[in-house]
Amino acid sequence: MARSLPQNDEAPAPTRRIPSAAFNSVSTRIIASVFLATVLTAAVVSGLCIRAIHAEQSGRLVRGFASLSATRETAWSRRAQTLAAQLRLESAPDSAWHAALSQARSREPESPRPSLRWQSPDRRVTRPSSANELTEDELPAPPETLAAHFDRIVLGDADGATSTLDDCLAIEAELPGDAVVPAGRLTACIAPDELTALLRPGPEELATPRVMLTDLRGSVLSAGGPGAPARVGGRIPIGQMIGHGRSALSHYSDPAGRALVGLASPLGRSGWFLAVETEHARAFAPAIALTRTIFIVDVCVILLFSVLAYKVTVAIMQPIHALSSGAQRILEGHVDHQIPPPAIHDDELGLLTHTFNEMMRKLRSNQIEIERDRIRLAEKNEELQSANEVLSQLSITDGLTKLHNHRYFQDHLTREIKRVSRTNSPLSLILIDIDDFKLLNDTHGHAAGDEVLITLATIMNESARESDLIARYGGEEFVILMPNTDLAGAVHLAEKIRMAVESTRLIIGDRMKPTVVTISLGVALFKGNRREFFAEADRALYRAKAAGKNCVIIAGSESNALG
Ligand code: GH3
Ligand code: MG
Ligand code: MG
Repeated sequence: MARSLPQNDEAPAPTRRIPSAAFNSVSTRIIASVFLATVLTAAVVSGLCIRAIHAEQSGRLVRGFASLSATRETAWSRRAQTLAAQLRLESAPDSAWHAALSQARSREPESPRPSLRWQSPDRRVTRPSSANELTEDELPAPPETLAAHFDRIVLGDADGATSTLDDCLAIEAELPGDAVVPAGRLTACIAPDELTALLRPGPEELATPRVMLTDLRGSVLSAGGPGAPARVGGRIPIGQMIGHGRSALSHYSDPAGRALVGLASPLGRSGWFLAVETEHARAFAPAIALTRTIFIVDVCVILLFSVLAYKVTVAIMQPIHALSSGAQRILEGHVDHQIPPPAIHDDELGLLTHTFNEMMRKLRSNQIEIERDRIRLAEKNEELQSANEVLSQLSITDGLTKLHNHRYFQDHLTREIKRVSRTNSPLSLILIDIDDFKLLNDTHGHAAGDEVLITLATIMNESARESDLIARYGGEEFVILMPNTDLAGAVHLAEKIRMAVESTRLIIGDRMKPTVVTISLGVALFKGNRREFFAEADRALYRAKAAGKNCVIIAGSESNALG
């Protein structure tokens, strides 16, 4: 059965409920903290991993691109030497082409003589247009061995001032003249097919990158490898790529917006550049795949830890919730509440729950004990109170007659005089003394005297009003104090009592003959002086005795004895 804690006067403490809102509960904070910590850790670790993976992949690409670039450059260098040797051979003084060249040169009388040009008729349409387009007539056509490899050949001054071709990759050779002075300088543009073949990666080389030849502005002159034709004529950010050199990749995009990575280096001393590039997505495909895997692992780890955090939090919070609501129930007065033990009962929370339940058991038994003590104390208090009441009654009551005693009369008189002085209402007093009582005692014994005293008390009680105070003044003398009663009323009561006593036949002791007892009475009215009030009544009683007893004398009158 539910017992309530003893109530006290303090206002009940305001009850605080366990926060049910999801955001300020301890469990939500734990789960959110674990989730954030996991996300943060996963983000940092994954970020570092992804950076390292990208750096590793970049390094591999740089090494691959640089190696390819170096291979192409070596191939170019060898090819350039071969072609230069061929150009020199075909233009040697004893060759047919040298004679034709010398003749063509001699037809130009102007000084300085303009350069003479030849252009391959097959490739005229494909090569970049030139402002001063020339025909093959101006320079004798080279032998077939040269025409197969070059698409333009220019014969300029020996010092090279009028023979520069800056829109193609050229090979130069002196045109021998007489014994000492060269007749001019031949500059031959390598044919695009030749270049494409030169740039095309071999089967043993990295297959995916494109190799491109660009000028100083990044215009692609020739390209080899996947998607090469589409890049010819386009541009790449050669300035940015040269800045990085062969140590780092450049990131840029083609006109179609595809992200590219590349690396560039000067092609010998030709003034041209060799660039290697590939699509970013293809280059970093392994790193992207790994990044995706890391992301999936991250999500799985975060979910796993969040679920674990949830499970652990629920396992922790369930007993705490039970303890908390148990404490709440106790605060509401249900001390017999017991908390069900948690699933794991030998850990700290299990111990706490057990201790809590033990505490509650002790509290309940203490409370029952206190309640018993309280009931015992209340009973004792009641006994004490009634004993006190008896004592208090005894202290103001006369033991024989059960009338009020002298002390009570004096206290009551004090209160009545105070009241009378406020209200001016009349207050009267009757003083009564049994006549010849000593004789009665002597004759019949004190026990008989006591019986007379009791009988007189009964007669007075029956004659007086509720509001009148009857007291045993001492020995066989009695007083009756009558509030709101004037002298006439007091005399009337005195006479009534006197007559009642006189007419009472008392059977005293074992004597068959009834005995008559009489009383004398003095009556006084309060006139403002307490001492005088009583003295007047006493004098009137004295006079009643003197007047022959068994009569009523009114204070202040000389001859008005009644009875
Ligand atoms: P008087 O008519 O002049 O009053 O004469 P008296 O004999 O009554 O004289 P007094 O008043 O002097 O006598 C008082 C007597 O009352 C004395 C005493 O023996 C007796 N008495 C006083 N108290 C008690 C009491 O409690 N019981 C009994 N039996 N007698 C008492
Ligand atoms: Mg007397
Ligand atoms: Mg007497």
